[in-house]
Amino acid sequence: MSIYDAIGARTIINAKGTSTRVSGALLAPEVTAAMQEAGQYCVDMAEIQAAASKIIAEVTGAEAGIVTSGAAAGLLLGTAACVAGLDPAKMARLPDTTGMKSEVIMVRSQRNQYDHAVRAAGVHIVEVGLPDRVAGAGVRDAEPWEIAAAITERTAAIVYVANARSRPTIEEVARVANSKHVPLLVDAAAQLPPAANLRRFIAAGADLVAYSGGKAIGGPQGSGILCGGRDLIMSAVLQQLDMDIAWEQWTPPPSLIDKARLPGLPPHGIGRQCKVGKETIVGLLVALRRFLAEDDQSRHDRLLGLVKRLDSATGSLRNARTEVRTGGSPSFVLTLERGFKLTGMEVCIALQNGTPSIHADPSQAANGIIGFSPASLRPEDPDLIGRRLRELIG
Ligand SMILES: *Cc1c(COP(=O)(O)O)cnc(C)c1O
Repeated sequence: MSIYDAIGARTIINAKGTSTRVSGALLAPEVTAAMQEAGQYCVDMAEIQAAASKIIAEVTGAEAGIVTSGAAAGLLLGTAACVAGLDPAKMARLPDTTGMKSEVIMVRSQRNQYDHAVRAAGVHIVEVGLPDRVAGAGVRDAEPWEIAAAITERTAAIVYVANARSRPTIEEVARVANSKHVPLLVDAAAQLPPAANLRRFIAAGADLVAYSGGKAIGGPQGSGILCGGRDLIMSAVLQQLDMDIAWEQWTPPPSLIDKARLPGLPPHGIGRQCKVGKETIVGLLVALRRFLAEDDQSRHDRLLGLVKRLDSATGSLRNARTEVRTGGSPSFVLTLERGFKLTGMEVCIALQNGTPSIHADPSQAANGIIGFSPASLRPEDPDLIGRRLRELIG
């Protein structure tokens, strides 16, 4: 019996990884305990964000940082900060950006579902590049000069989605952004591990970086980090915090919010709806400390241990080849024999519809390949998955 039974919902086996749809990471007992304790006290939300800012700054090398309700919230808040700066009148008007810097430049091949969070701030995305690296001759994507050429007086920011395949490189894009004094906002939601990526984008010259807290960091599912320059983070947090207070009563921590630089109190901003609770902030910070306490090699080996258990629980299958992948992030990969009665997607659906319900990675199912990630597996899951695979694939 779990708390989920008590509320009339079922649990699943998550072999897809830390995807949001299948509820992200499992929380370590230390994180859960910290959240429970955090719930037993009240705090001033600006003060707890200022404390978080100090920790995030140390860990990322940025001047400041805040806990957000996810990387996507970080993209909204970061964009809103680039547009409104420290002007409460602009903060009050968003997402109406009439008369403000209202364009964000993105490389066309980096457009994705999460840029809705960028557009939600009221900006229009200007795409550059032609990704024939993916669709044509396989050579070009976007060039740094194309980004430079798209910058106008309406440009609020350049948004860069970081992953191993992103082109131009972060260094090349930062060079353009920094030389033209346009803020560079990086979506690094899923770029951990390696832990070094907590510092990498700021070191390369990014002005703001958004990370997911509910993926590899192992924080609460609805958490994230936005780190960056002091003024941009001050703008972001002003647009996130609840502002139901009188100006003369308001004494925000100067390390995060320099009241002297504001002409008056901003109203609830566009990020007020991305509220983040005290227990979420504490949970994320404790998870971050744990994430950094484990080095990349130990993390890899711990996850590889689960993958090997899954491999031995599965044994050899009559209708599929199996493989343990090491390196970047370890996984267990199954390739169906040609002519097997079920397609890759049909196997994924059968796994999902069984009891317990098992969610695998279907991204290569069209090629008969099914992936199993150890990132969100409970200790008993490898045996349960192995048994079901033997039933299904023989
Ligand atoms: C997961 C992800 C996000 C969203 O992160 P949340 O913390 O779930 O808001 C944004 N961008 C990319 C590239 C992601 O992989």
